[in-house]
Amino acid sequence: MRILVTNDDGIHAPGLEVLEAIAHEFSDDVWVCAPSDNQTGAGHSLTLSLPVRLRKHGERRFSVTGTPTDAVSMGMKHVMDGEPDLLLSGVNAGANLGDDITYSGTVSAAMEGALAGVRSIALSQVMKTERPPSGDRFSAAKGWGPRVIEPLLTVPYENRTLVSVNFPSLDAQDVRGARVVRQGFHDYSRGSIVEARDPRGFRYYWFGLDAIEHTPDHGTDLEAIAEDFVSITPLQLDLTRHASIKVLADRFDN
Ligand code: MN
Repeated sequence: MRILVTNDDGIHAPGLEVLEAIAHEFSDDVWVCAPSDNQTGAGHSLTLSLPVRLRKHGERRFSVTGTPTDAVSMGMKHVMDGEPDLLLSGVNAGANLGDDITYSGTVSAAMEGALAGVRSIALSQVMKTERPPSGDRFSAAKGWGPRVIEPLLTVPYENRTLVSVNFPSLDAQDVRGARVVRQGFHDYSRGSIVEARDPRGFRYYWFGLDAIEHTPDHGTDLEAIAEDFVSITPLQLDLTRHASIKVLADRFDN
């Protein structure tokens, strides 16, 4: 089995090493192609107006000066000779729950894999300010990653789908299990905008990520994490709101 590992936190991120180690539990044929820098929040963006550079870091380890989507494209179309059997994205340093998904470079990298018909899994480690007792922020991802990935390898693959996994901010032995749940939603707040002045006196702005308020609905990823479970959410690239097709069609069709 050929595995492509990528992320949005960049080639030097600790979570990438965690995921490489997990990938090696399933195969010796593991390739890494990740962004050269932190691309958190890049979503599914592509670099079209600039060239990108490919750097080789090891025999099957590469970085791209672009977005997570660029890295996956480069990995599949150029670095690897053909598409992988599996794409793993992460392990992201931070949650990708509820409405985070469309901002997420981690999930978007898995979307790019899904577009190519590759079985794709995004993995994110929720991080609270306080570390779990072991001190290892990736403890849950390390302990539960292989256990979650294994069954996902043999379920029938549906085109244009992917799976997003979030690990709670706990030591692996304190995690209560894994739940398959739907995507939840946050109460809208996109964090603060900090205004300050640069050394030349010009105003600049910086977006902050405040703690997001939400009331986790039953059966959602947010609830699973709040209750100390790993959340497993199948996603689809079809964003159509099917229930609205008829309502809109009634207004537009003759
Ligand atoms: Mn990230």
